[in-house]
Amino acid sequence: MVTLEEYNSTEKPTWCPGCADYTILTTIKKTLTELNIESHNAVLVSGVGCFAKLPYWIKTNGFVGLHGRSLPVAQGIKLANEDLTVIAFGGDGDGYSEGGNHFIHACRRNVNITYVVHNNGVFGLTTGQYSSTSTMGTKSKSSPRGSIEVSFNPIAVALASGATFIARVYVGNPSHCVDIMKKAVQHNGFAFVDIIQPCITFGKNHEYYKDKIYIVDEKYDWSDKSTAFLKALESDTGKIPCGIIYKK
Ligand code: SF4
Ligand code: MG
Repeated sequence: MVTLEEYNSTEKPTWCPGCADYTILTTIKKTLTELNIESHNAVLVSGVGCFAKLPYWIKTNGFVGLHGRSLPVAQGIKLANEDLTVIAFGGDGDGYSEGGNHFIHACRRNVNITYVVHNNGVFGLTTGQYSSTSTMGTKSKSSPRGSIEVSFNPIAVALASGATFIARVYVGNPSHCVDIMKKAVQHNGFAFVDIIQPCITFGKNHEYYKDKIYIVDEKYDWSDKSTAFLKALESDTGKIPCGIIYKK
């Protein structure tokens, strides 16, 4: 039986104290442990951003590459050795901006990996510029008068691009994160999980998300694509639905 300790690294994370990435780190360790995946059979792949340091601090195989390029590397690893459990990581800046094209085509290609995007609506590593998922009007270092761009909708893009497992979680609910992550890793095909998280240093805090985040109810039909599109579009109106949004 695999234990959580096997995944513990002796290195200490350098994220800001209280960063939501600590919760995601624990979520990944619990997911791998509870699915009884041995550390030599897991590979974590990331790009560039605060989130991208996550493979440093889990004792398993890791690859840290270029901005937005975790997906081509992760797909290549899986194709070379299908016995490995491959989890790719992105950020809203890294994965939805620089890596947007890889995201679309990984959805279409349906290689059996999991893609986790740390979505905090800001470029954290470069100290607080607005990102593709910042809401219109966001004031930041690079948009002092407020951003003038429409916010990127990753769930709708994943749906339109043919992804077969699409989910969203919020770091403020760690047990739900683990539950959905386990289902994503077990999915046979490309599984995408958008993780909404605050950036307490340069972005929004938990208070901002408090009245927006909710989990879809048990009657929600995630097998219906039209219903899933309507659910995805809710985030354009201020509500942020979490849970499995679509699964084929
Ligand atoms: Fe976390 Fe934001 Fe600090 Fe980066 S800048 S480590 S995302 S709190
Ligand atoms: Mg970010």
